[in-house]
Order: sequence, then C-alpha cells, then structure tokens
Amino acid sequence: DDGRNTVRFFTSEMNARLQRNKEVLTDLAESLTKEHFELYYQPLFTIDQNILVGAEALIRWHHPEKGMIPPDQFIAVAEKSGLINELGDWVLAQACREIKNFLNAGITVFKVAINISPVQFRRKDLLQHMLMILAQHDVSAELIELEITEGAVMDNVDQAIETMQALHDAGFQLAMDDFGTGYSSLSYLKRFPIQKVKIDRSFISDLENDDDSKSITTAIIQMSHSLGLHVLAEGVETEEQLHYLQAEKCDYVQGYYTGRPIPASEFIKNFSESKKG
Ligand code: C2E
Ligand code: CA
Ligand code: CA
Ligand code: CA
Repeated sequence: DDGRNTVRFFTSEMNARLQRNKEVLTDLAESLTKEHFELYYQPLFTIDQNILVGAEALIRWHHPEKGMIPPDQFIAVAEKSGLINELGDWVLAQACREIKNFLNAGITVFKVAINISPVQFRRKDLLQHMLMILAQHDVSAELIELEITEGAVMDNVDQAIETMQALHDAGFQLAMDDFGTGYSSLSYLKRFPIQKVKIDRSFISDLENDDDSKSITTAIIQMSHSLGLHVLAEGVETEEQLHYLQAEKCDYVQGYYTGRPIPASEFIKNFSESKKG
C-alpha cells in the first residue's frame, strides 16, 4: 500500500511539474515575441586597481502577471524545448545594441560577456549564426566574451575544442564558467583554447570558513596562471574574500561586493566617462 501511495504521489508531482513547465514554455514563447526580456549587466573589475574591464550580461524576464522571474526558473525549460536558441539569439542581439550605447557613453576598453547554453554550443551553425547577428548590428566579435560551462564541452571534447577554436579564431574571447563544479579535470584546461577561467561562486562563498575551499581556489589560480590563463573569481561578497583573492594574485573580480547586476541605463549612469573623475 505504501508503495502505491508513494508512486501515486510522485506521479502527481511529476504531472504538476510538467504542467508548470508547459505553462512556462507557452509564456516564454509569447514573451519572446513581445520583448518581455531585459539584460542586466554586472561589472567585472581588475582585482587591485578596480579598473572596469567588462560586464556580464544576465537575462531577466519581466512576466506580464508574475513580475520579474530569475533565469534559474526558466533557462532549463527553454533548454529542454530548444527555445533557448531563440532566446540566445535575442541575448546576443540585445548585447550588441547596448554595447554601442556603452561605447558612446565613453565606457571603453570593455567587453560584454554572455552566457552560452550547452544547447546553443552544440549547434552546427553556431559560429555562422553569431557572426550574422554581429554583422547585422555592426559589432566586432572582439567586444564579446563567451562564457561556456564544463557541461557543454565534456561529452565530446574533440568536437568542443574545434568549436571553441573556430569561435576564438573569429575574434571571440572564451571563458570557462562555473569552474570547479563540473566533471572536467584541471588537465583539460591545457587543451581548451580559452583565455579565462571563472572560479565558481560556491568556493568563494566558503573561503572564510573552509580551508578546503581556500586550497581549491589557490590551486585553480596557480594552475590557470601556469597555463597562461586569466582567472576571475565570481560571487565575491566581502572584503575578506577580496583580500584573500588579491593575496593569491587572482586577476579579476565579480560579485555583489564590487557591483550587483543592474539595467543598462543604470550601468551607463554609474560607469560613463563623466562619472569617473
Ligand atoms: P552564472 O553564469 O553563474 O551567473 C552568475 C550569477 O550569480 C548571476 O545570477 C548573478 O546575479 C549571481 N551573482 C553575482 N554576484 C553574486 C554574489 O556576490 N553573490 C551571489 N549570491 N550571487 C551573485 P542570475 O543572474 O540569477 O543568473 C543565474 C544563472 O542563469 C547564470 O549563472 C547563468 O547560468 C544563467 N543565465 C543568466 N543569463 C543567461 C543568459 O542570457 N543565457 C543563458 N544561457 N544563461 C543565462
Ligand atoms: Ca556566467
Ligand atoms: Ca558563473
Ligand atoms: Ca553559477
């Protein structure tokens, strides 16, 4: 009896979830045509001098009834359905439009980082397609950094390396996102044509009370440097974390401590030339 109840319980749970996912998907598709999305930008700084070197674009969904929905609640659904490809196209196009505004406002020496879903990364026509969007907006690939996760590259490493090399040859910068959480070993870093490693937030948030996280963070920084890669620490929330990362010679910092994700207009207000002096 217990067994049957348990099964029935999970089944209705699953049905409810499927139903929710279907609703999310319908709403997502509709929102895409109505432009209910927005990119927020989180500043990326050098670890010591606090020089602004770029921003990570993070998608926000303004649901007509439910208000703002964070990406964790819809990216996975979009990935399962394939809608992520269209969403990803919108992200790149929007980033292109807003980069021009950043440059016009005097925010130079600056790159915008966008997140590439594993589903997008495996598209055969990914490079062609992205170059077409860049051309439509008259933006150079040198201004864009692509953040790729280990999950996107590990199931077919050779193919992934080819894709990454082609993207880099076309001018894009490549960063390995959420590093340390996936399956890839440090030794793979040597084979990947990437320029930057982003240490996952989980290690940074544990820095103050977990010696293992300290060791791992230090090891990632040293290993990356010995391979000629730059290192960024994400999710930095405290001065203590920043000081540790400075002492360990991490290159870049991103986190609430140095700046939260904000709308493009606010980003320009905070970081345009006139505000610097
Ligand atoms: P991610 O790529 O690891 O992005 C960093 C996430 O950490 C962002 O969450 C950011 O707001 C948050 N964050 C930054 N600094 C701090 C900090 O100091 N403390 C804490 N607690 N959090 C911090 P967000 O914007 O909710 O995005 C979540 C995830 O959704 C992203 O993780 C990324 O995987 C995905 N995502 C966001 N935008 C896009 C997109 O345009 N395309 C795709 N494919 N995925 C996206
Ligand atoms: Ca990211
Ligand atoms: Ca990340
Ligand atoms: Ca993450």
